[in-house]
Amino acid sequence: MIVGPMYAAKSHMLINEYNKYNAKFDDFSSTVLVVKPKIDTRNKGVVHSRSAGEILAYSIENFSDIKNLLTNKTKYIFVDEFNFFDSDMVKVMKELNSKGVSIIVSGLNLDFKRIPFDRFNELKEIATCVTLTTAVCYTCGKIALYSRREQKDASNEKNDSQIAIENDDVKYYSSCLKCHKI
Ligand SMILES: [Zn+2]
Repeated sequence: MIVGPMYAAKSHMLINEYNKYNAKFDDFSSTVLVVKPKIDTRNKGVVHSRSAGEILAYSIENFSDIKNLLTNKTKYIFVDEFNFFDSDMVKVMKELNSKGVSIIVSGLNLDFKRIPFDRFNELKEIATCVTLTTAVCYTCGKIALYSRREQKDASNEKNDSQIAIENDDVKYYSSCLKCHKI
């Protein structure tokens, strides 16, 4: 499990993990599934990192949709932006895990109010390894553990929701505690 704030190279680390297995096993591509939540419309069809390139990914709406993509060869599942998935995710992951499938996920641990995402809370209970990565504070340059959200129309109550994908109106910045504003 790879977690941290925005701009903490989480997708980069996920791609690195993918490449590690890819270099080791000739048949890796037939044993792996990469998924991301459909709600994340950036970089469609791939997990993208500015520094590590990209890997092909299926966009799925509900995590249980992954069952339609599994084959009897599937041994590894990579999940980007896991924090955006629905509450079935942990149940499905446990099922897959009991069948011997290894799952590597990356995403946000905390929302813009520094409140943990439900999926993070649930997954960290069953994860065998949790890597917390950090970013650089956009404002002061110190170590950033948080994500700050800025939005054009702050009066819109929809903008208070935990999930809002970055677009022309919503921007995220990595932030240290001192510079973090809600
Ligand atoms: Zn700062």
